[in-house]
Amino acid sequence: MRIVRSITETREIVSGWRQRGHIIGLVPTMGFFHQGHLELMRMSVGTTDKTIVSLFVNPTQFGAEEDLDVYPRDFEGDCDKARGCGADLMFCPEPGEIYRPGHQTEVSVAGLAEGMCGLDRPGHFTGVATVVAKLFNIIHPDYAFFGEKDFQQLQIIRQLTKDLNFSVSIVGVPIVREDNGLAMSSRNSYLSESERQDALVLHQALQLIWRRVQKEKDAADVDDLRAQAVALIEKSSFCTLEYLTIVDEQSLHEVSQVRGRCRVLGAIRVSQRIRLIDNIALYR
Ligand code: AMP
Repeated sequence: MRIVRSITETREIVSGWRQRGHIIGLVPTMGFFHQGHLELMRMSVGTTDKTIVSLFVNPTQFGAEEDLDVYPRDFEGDCDKARGCGADLMFCPEPGEIYRPGHQTEVSVAGLAEGMCGLDRPGHFTGVATVVAKLFNIIHPDYAFFGEKDFQQLQIIRQLTKDLNFSVSIVGVPIVREDNGLAMSSRNSYLSESERQDALVLHQALQLIWRRVQKEKDAADVDDLRAQAVALIEKSSFCTLEYLTIVDEQSLHEVSQVRGRCRVLGAIRVSQRIRLIDNIALYR
């Protein structure tokens, strides 16, 4: 596996692959790999001829009060894991390579980025959309793989791909979970053993909604479903709810009845410090 820091060298390698007719897959990440990341890489390796994993802790998607400076990192470990999955190239630029002095352009996706994490993290999705657009322009992948764990992000990327006419197919990958149901996340490394238990309440609240939707024959009433799940989270002494919303998967608009392709998405803060997100599809 090649480890490349420069855009120019990455482009040269990709152009050689393209001349040989290879299909190219991109897996954008911020590193500190867990099984969720590795699943994306395995999907890319299984679908394409050449897999590029980008490792870039993108400063523009972090708010001033957020965890950019302490974001977990393990460069050597990440290289070993990506290599083990069969990745061909790891693109790991320094921030100054991606954002040159005088950089002024941003990409923002208006509607989809407004609610949920967009409300709690102003500017976050503009940072994500900008860096993903840059990666698409640098690499020109045929396929790009993103986790459903960040479902709002996935839909925003699908929209920007369509709106900006990128010729890449976006592949959404189901959430990889710990045995107890906790969605894997690099930020889980901030959790103590007891906080890991506390954090489970988010998944339990989402599952409670999922179970009721599966059981009830008629379209379930959202206010009622939501109230029960919110009450469960509010009972927890160490977790605070940021949002819990049932939305239409395409528009990400809140629905009043669970019908068709709906999804429940939620975010909590554990011990005030650690923000975690999760979601579950509510259709069979
Ligand atoms: P990150 O490094 O957190 O920016 O994540 C990089 C990619 O991995 C994103 O597309 C995430 O949605 C995806 N991802 C993170 N955690 C998981 C998970 N538990 N299951 C599936 N995909 C994930």
